[in-house]
Amino acid sequence: MKEIACKLLIIGAGPGGYVCAIRAGQLGIDTVIVEAKKPGGTCLTVGCIPSKALIHAAEEFDAVRRAAAGASPLGISTASPSIELTRTMAWKDHIVGRLTGGVTALLKRQKVKIVHGWARFRDGKTVEVETETGRQLIRAETVVIATGSAPVELPSIPFGGPVISSTEALSLDGVPERLAVVGAGYIGLELGIAYAKLGAQVTVVEAAERILPLYDADLTKPVAKRLAALGIELLLRAKAREIEPRRDQLVVETADGAARQIAADRILVAVGRRPAIDGWGLEELDLDRKGRFIRIDDQCRSSMRGIFAIGDVTGEPMLAHRAMAQGEMVAEIVAGHRRNWDKSCIPAICFTDPEIVTAGLTPDEARAAGHEVDIGQFPFSANGRAMTRHAEDGFVRVVARADNHLVLGVQAVGQGASELSAAFGLAIEMGARLEDVAGTIHAHPTLGEAFQEAALKGLGQALHI
Ligand code: FAD
Ligand code: NAD
Repeated sequence: MKEIACKLLIIGAGPGGYVCAIRAGQLGIDTVIVEAKKPGGTCLTVGCIPSKALIHAAEEFDAVRRAAAGASPLGISTASPSIELTRTMAWKDHIVGRLTGGVTALLKRQKVKIVHGWARFRDGKTVEVETETGRQLIRAETVVIATGSAPVELPSIPFGGPVISSTEALSLDGVPERLAVVGAGYIGLELGIAYAKLGAQVTVVEAAERILPLYDADLTKPVAKRLAALGIELLLRAKAREIEPRRDQLVVETADGAARQIAADRILVAVGRRPAIDGWGLEELDLDRKGRFIRIDDQCRSSMRGIFAIGDVTGEPMLAHRAMAQGEMVAEIVAGHRRNWDKSCIPAICFTDPEIVTAGLTPDEARAAGHEVDIGQFPFSANGRAMTRHAEDGFVRVVARADNHLVLGVQAVGQGASELSAAFGLAIEMGARLEDVAGTIHAHPTLGEAFQEAALKGLGQALHI
């Protein structure tokens, strides 16, 4: 068996692992990263990037279809459009290929050694990797576990055949005529909306009493409205129970306790993700857990000396940019820098139609934290750019401390609102006051002006409402 030794060993080259490796390489740390599949992990290969490519293709197709149906208020008309999903998927795969290739190149540029294969711990300092050319033993001073997450399977509706996870939903070779979606969370709604726009008859089954239960009702209302406009059937307080033996009917217990059968060509189960903790020798280690996730402190240290954990395997929020920020921090800690997790917020975006953005505290969260708050809300219906995009539904809402106007949180819902997340995050991270946002010249006409106006509204000085 071949043996190598290094200072830093990273297991998993998703956004957490590969960013950790790049920064470690930049800092001159002798680093090895092990990846069983492709560099880029869930995010680049079967998550953020492919889903956003499909969502974009669906938006384009929907716009053309509406124009063909004579429903374009913009005066656009066209003959009957069609979509060849295999070509859409090939385009998506090309983007994924460019990005995963780019990650490999970045790692190589920083002299990070990439080992392809499945890693398994022998003990806290030694990992065995099953590579194509045989077994390799890697000894390391410090190890980072960045193994990510996997879709949750419903025992009564196991994956296979028509029952698919997001991974298969992002590689279908045709648009299903009837798509049932279990779970109206991030994945269920992002992909459910995309497939409805691509022409599928979509039914969404959600156990909670409203969609996207993570977000407050005001933020989700415009999305619920859009689901109805797209002809998506939504069953709330409904539980997916089982699948019929013929496997083309999903049996659902509806809110009134009745059983309902939903005929479907595909059933997308999107009821959450679980940490990837199986098959790599977790049992050889003595790691404290937080539920099923690996427990970490504010430096991403696990309960074992010399073992860090980052990204989805450490719990919510399971977002790529959190994993990346953790990876960067851990590399710097390994290099001897004084770092700990001191971020003011982790913005989150749901790429539905319209998009939802949150950064920092919502009004309820701020009050629950003991703050007296001022709230400024500005509707996109009063924003010139939103009007010219024919996308007026939604708003920007700013939550600030009543005593000193410190911005505690910003939320928005609207088409194209995702790009505002940078401004929201920056304002909170920089400790901006309402006056700072209100006093910054925002270029016209942009959706960003709604942020400035929301801050002005919080100060009782809104100009355009
Ligand atoms: P992962 O990206 O899961 O990477 C872990 C890597 O470790 C994998 O490549 C795996 O092969 C490898 N690995 C695991 N075990 C071993 C082992 N023993 N040996 C070798 N290699 C191993 N987040 C966002 O922020 N924005 C989005 O828009 C977004 N969209 C998403 C859409 C979908 C459909 C899905 C499923 C997820 C989405 N996410 C999104 C979540 C995002 O993908 C994850 O938060 C992110 O990928 C987590 O990064 P990670 O590095 O922790 O793990
Ligand atoms: P989720 O937690 O967002 O949503 C799961 C939904 O399924 C919930 O609303 C829940 O009430 C419902 N549910 C659970 N069991 C059910 C049942 N038996 N019947 C009906 N409904 C049921 O999970 P997800 O959509 O699978 O996404 C997983 C994770 O991936 C997210 O938490 C997020 O961290 C990440 N993600 C992020 C993005 C993004 O940032 N834009 C996009 C996709 C995924």
